[in-house]
Formats: sequence, C-alpha cells, structure tokens
Amino acid sequence: MRICINRKRLLEAEYWYTLHKNKRIYTKNRLAERKAMMYKDLGGICVKCGTTNDLEVDHINNNDRNIRTVHDRASGKAGLSAYYLTGREYLGELPKCQLLCRFCHHEKTMQERAH
Ligand SMILES: [Zn+2]
Repeated sequence: MRICINRKRLLEAEYWYTLHKNKRIYTKNRLAERKAMMYKDLGGICVKCGTTNDLEVDHINNNDRNIRTVHDRASGKAGLSAYYLTGREYLGELPKCQLLCRFCHHEKTMQERAH
C-alpha cells in the first residue's frame, strides 16, 4: 500500500506526540505518587501544629541531606528532585525528614537563619 507522503508525515507527528504525551503523564503521575508516599510515610501531618494542609518536607538537620527540596532552589518553583530517588536512597533519606506545614516550615527556616 502506498501512503501519501503528507499522510505519512502526519502519522509520524501524531506518533511522536502520543509517545511524548504519555511520557509526560507517566512522569507527572510518578511524581505525584512519590510525593503522596513520602507525605504518608512521614505521618501526613505537620509535626509542630498537627495540620494536614499545605504540608512540605523539611530536613530536620539542614546540613545532613542528600536530597534537595523545593526550598533549595532559588526560584522556589521546581526542585522535586527528592521524588526521583531510588527506593534505597528514599529509605535512607526518610528518617532525616519531617513534615511541616508551610507556616511552621517558614518559622523554622527563619529561626535557623537567625542563628
Ligand atoms: Zn504547622
């Protein structure tokens, strides 16, 4: 069967798009899953005030860390590298972390800077 060259190009473009679209969805789901898992493993509540809203992962000792969290990036936007860890790295890092809500986290960061 002969396929019109334009039709072929279109199919290729569609294929490429689908491939990369699925990849994006996969990555997004994986990050969400890892994040949910980390929050659950860390208790699911802020260790200071007990809220379940606006939770963030905090390194208990700021100098003892192998992973970066959102706050390590100047932009404050990206920085989900914590969620790319392998299982072993993840388990090694987990005891060094705690969950804090956005406000308690901010407070802790301010105190650490003041010292
Ligand atoms: Zn809190």
